[in-house]
Amino acid sequence: MMHEKDSIFDQMISREHERLCFHQDPETGLKAIVAIHSTALGNALGGTRRWYYGSEADAIYDVLRLSKGMTYKAAVSGLPMGGAKSVIMMPHRDTPRTEAEAKAMGRFVNTFGGTYIAAEDVGVNIEYIDWMATETQHVMGGETVSRGGDPSPWTALGVFHGMRACLIHTGRGDDFSDMTVAIQGVGSVGQNLCKLLKEAGANLIVADINKKKLDYAVETYGCRAVHDDDILKIECDILAPCALGGVIDGNMVEHLRCPILCGAANNILDDPEEDAVALKTAGIVYGTDFVVNAGGLIHLAGMHLGMSDSELQTKNDEIFCTTQQLLQRSENASSTYAAAVEIAKQRIADGQETEVHAG
Ligand code: NAD
Repeated sequence: MMHEKDSIFDQMISREHERLCFHQDPETGLKAIVAIHSTALGNALGGTRRWYYGSEADAIYDVLRLSKGMTYKAAVSGLPMGGAKSVIMMPHRDTPRTEAEAKAMGRFVNTFGGTYIAAEDVGVNIEYIDWMATETQHVMGGETVSRGGDPSPWTALGVFHGMRACLIHTGRGDDFSDMTVAIQGVGSVGQNLCKLLKEAGANLIVADINKKKLDYAVETYGCRAVHDDDILKIECDILAPCALGGVIDGNMVEHLRCPILCGAANNILDDPEEDAVALKTAGIVYGTDFVVNAGGLIHLAGMHLGMSDSELQTKNDEIFCTTQQLLQRSENASSTYAAAVEIAKQRIADGQETEVHAG
């Protein structure tokens, strides 16, 4: 397994990255990194994460992992797009978002000439995207200058479809009544997921380190709140990590008390190749993150590609069938993650083949 202690080129080579670009803006103090993992299928759309990292190595490790996931996510969703991501290194935990910083980030994104298209991720909101969009047309997810809006309702809908496929696969039927779903993180995606699951009749258990968001979920959707240290080990039918990545590792697997793991967080597994095998061995069905959380990408990338509203809806609904195919295929693979990567790589190969013939 590659780690942040390996050289930057070793990390890029091991994950097969095309480009890793750094930028600093003296006027605003912006420090940002764009990682373009692959443009094999087309230009690459991926969110901008604004985060306080303990070190530059942590930021590089994060952006490399996230951008590779975007390549797989786009490919498995059947989008003619590559994979990329960017991170902004906050100088302090509580550094506020400013228009000047967002504009500096927009100018950085613009230097890629559309090869990289930015969007929201953790720490970046619609206002920030619209600030960026005053400096570049290569950004999606704003409401005034840019377009697409908040992708999280679409991400939540995709995760909901993924959960349905997992329920059916484990013989529980396409029915959430009497099902208990535990959600770690009730932020943008988590709240939307609570709404969909509540409407479908599920019992909800939630945790969040942000008390305001936790209280909102409890009051609005009747969720039961538990301490954030306990949520991953709670007994439930579906465990849905919707906070940050790396929450499940080989040691954690034996503590899980759920037959299904299916959530929105990117890189749920610390070491996806090894941990997904451990999940399979433990009899836990894993709705692979980059398959089920593709709804937001499908929405923004689909709009960018000129899809109609009904085409966008159909493409999001396809997450249900893709997850079903994945789970079937995983029976003969080492894990669902391995099966999902296989599907993504096949689609990249098919897409490149199609382009060659078309040309
Ligand atoms: P968000 O920042 O709005 O919400 C994350 C929530 O998790 C916050 O409320 C935060 O307080 C909480 N949290 C953080 N650490 C926690 C912990 N240890 N225990 C409990 N709660 C914790 O982010 P979001 O947009 O809802 O995204 C959630 C996850 O889904 C992220 O990993 C993101 O990369 C991924 N994702 C989001 C989208 C999207 O459309 N927003 C798309 C794909 C993937």
